[in-house]
Amino acid sequence: MSAAEPTEPTTRAATPTASTSPEVPSTEATPTDPGRPPSPAVGYRRTGRSGLLLPTISLGLWQNFGEDRPLATMRDIVTRAFELGITHFDLANNYGPPPGSAERHFGEILRTDFAGLRNRLVISTKAGYLMWDGPYGEWGSRKYLLSSLEESLARMGLDYVDIFYSHRFDPHTPLEETMGALASAVQQGKALYAGVSSYSSTATREAARLLRKMGTPCLIHQPSYSMLNRWIEGSLLNVLEDEGIGCIAFSPLAQGLLTSKYLNVTPTDIEGTLPDDARAAKDGSFRRGFLTEETLEKVHGLARIAKRRGQTLAQMALAWCLRDPRVTSVLIGASSVRQLEENVAALENLAFTQEELDEIDRFATDAGINIWRASSEAGGEPHDDRATAAERDER
Ligand code: NAP
Repeated sequence: MSAAEPTEPTTRAATPTASTSPEVPSTEATPTDPGRPPSPAVGYRRTGRSGLLLPTISLGLWQNFGEDRPLATMRDIVTRAFELGITHFDLANNYGPPPGSAERHFGEILRTDFAGLRNRLVISTKAGYLMWDGPYGEWGSRKYLLSSLEESLARMGLDYVDIFYSHRFDPHTPLEETMGALASAVQQGKALYAGVSSYSSTATREAARLLRKMGTPCLIHQPSYSMLNRWIEGSLLNVLEDEGIGCIAFSPLAQGLLTSKYLNVTPTDIEGTLPDDARAAKDGSFRRGFLTEETLEKVHGLARIAKRRGQTLAQMALAWCLRDPRVTSVLIGASSVRQLEENVAALENLAFTQEELDEIDRFATDAGINIWRASSEAGGEPHDDRATAAERDER
């Protein structure tokens, strides 16, 4: 896994409140389904300059949807999400564990709970990280991307996905080939839209140019973004706005660090104070090393502000990401229905005063948790380069 290094955010004045956001009132764009209550909870934002509306909160199946959980829990989370208005579900070929199992489980839910509802859902998948052995099982070749998409469709039992992403930038494959594969997927009807994930602003601009030339505009960029990982504020958001590309921010809760889960963790006794059910307890994508005294101080400072706003830390963290109207959606994970419901309630208060934003800025600084940094720096992004680490598979 790549060592995640601190990068100081270049803060761009982006302080719109809910009243200035381009949200569509939920009453105008609520998925209605006989037998399910209409959703009052989640509003929708336009994805860049496209015709596609996405829910302000989307649900990702990276973790919590593998063989390590009962299918019943997954179904409860996904169906509750839909009831709350979350129409967008984000997958990738390698989500699990083991890789592929999240797509298989989601396919099962589509066949049962969501039977007949395909047109009300936006389903995405991606290819880029290691999926199978040999030279064609990762990165950005046409060979890998298009074979992987076939496999994803088969696992989910779908004819098409709504969004197909290049999951990471491949410095060794011509970008024209990678974008050509995305455009082919759209031309073949196997995806409706194309997207990129964790691309630098330079690579994103070039990807957008290539895709436009091929007649398949780039719909969306999926970068990591949270109060403790603000790299997209430097230039990526400006590029997305210029190009008319949407932005779906992943890990907005910093994998759970920006929730109440870690408030009782003591850095000097992590073993003794870490909740057993916390992602960090697995020491996988959320390394225990992230739980430094300095980072936990930031988390506590932010939790105090959230409390004054009458929100939980998780709710404030999501509202804060959505303060910028260029962020189309925040892409969360949830290991329980309770977490999901708490997070969706963030939408009840999206407005920040300038004083709150200024105070948040004192704590919301880079915490060295961006394990996807290698991809977003590989495309020529000018960067404060204290990083050294090797590439990390997001599994
Ligand atoms: P996240 O929302 O930052 O973290 C989700 C985790 O935080 C949950 O699984 C849960 O972990 C904890 N949590 C959530 N709500 C909570 C609450 N209210 N109270 C306490 N704990 C709470 O997002 P993420 O799971 O890291 O990523 C979200 C999605 O983004 C993924 O599923 C995937 O679709 C996408 N993603 C994309 C990439 C990419 O390269 N494109 C990379 C990573 C993620 P516990 O297990 O501790 O309960």
